[in-house]
Amino acid sequence: MTDSYMPWVSNSWMFDYECPRMFKYKRIDKADPDTPPSPNCVVGSAVHEAIHQMYVSQDFTLGFLFRIWPVVLREQMESYSVSETQYFATFLKEGEKLLAKFHSMAKDKGLLVDPIYTEKKLQYIVKSPAGNKYMVVCYLDLVVRPEGTDEIWIVDFKTGSTVPSQAATNSESQATFYSLGLRLVEKITESKVVFMYIRKGKWRYTARGDQEYQDLIKDIDEQQSKINNGEFEPSYSLCHICLYKDKCKMEDKAKDIPGLDPGWFK
Ligand code: SF4
Repeated sequence: MTDSYMPWVSNSWMFDYECPRMFKYKRIDKADPDTPPSPNCVVGSAVHEAIHQMYVSQDFTLGFLFRIWPVVLREQMESYSVSETQYFATFLKEGEKLLAKFHSMAKDKGLLVDPIYTEKKLQYIVKSPAGNKYMVVCYLDLVVRPEGTDEIWIVDFKTGSTVPSQAATNSESQATFYSLGLRLVEKITESKVVFMYIRKGKWRYTARGDQEYQDLIKDIDEQQSKINNGEFEPSYSLCHICLYKDKCKMEDKAKDIPGLDPGWFK
């Protein structure tokens, strides 16, 4: 790797390589997906935006969230090109439930207070022991000092249905990207990284330190090395969310046809 070339990495960059073939389609070939993203993902991003607006306005009432919700939802549906006629009524109700749940959970933990940051973009450079540099980008939903405490929490809002185990939370990279970034860029040491699983009403808490930072940088280096070596064998582990299933099936079939250029379908 040359000095001038600095790969941009993120938590989603790491996640996508869980299926190296999907990573290649998405990030190397920049192929168009076979299927559009599910319309349901619009609710999650709209809920994030409504909560962000609440923290910006510092009106911490549920009434505020309900008032802005239809407007925020409409804007997000438009930006995702999701049919309003088909989905608006369903998404409106679903979002109201999520926002009510968020409000109750946040109130319970003293999070309805002036934040340190809301929707904060962090960009920083890390250097591996091998001398490779990487530009890291991440977005923090919320950094806050819960009411009545001296703690600082990095809070990440999750709107999906899956809640990982505590062991999985302790070893995942997202919290490490956040924690390292907050320390390097803003010189703030958080007390904990907190994942708020709004749909399920669950919390996961974790902490990060030097060992996890070193491990993360080692993992980034290893992944980049595999990418440089053209290692893109499919793992079949992300098929349930993959937007390239048709392309992938065709590539598998093409392998059985002798002499066929593997890139014939692109
Ligand atoms: S369909 Fe499955 S194996 Fe194929 S690229 Fe997507 S995640 Fe990977």
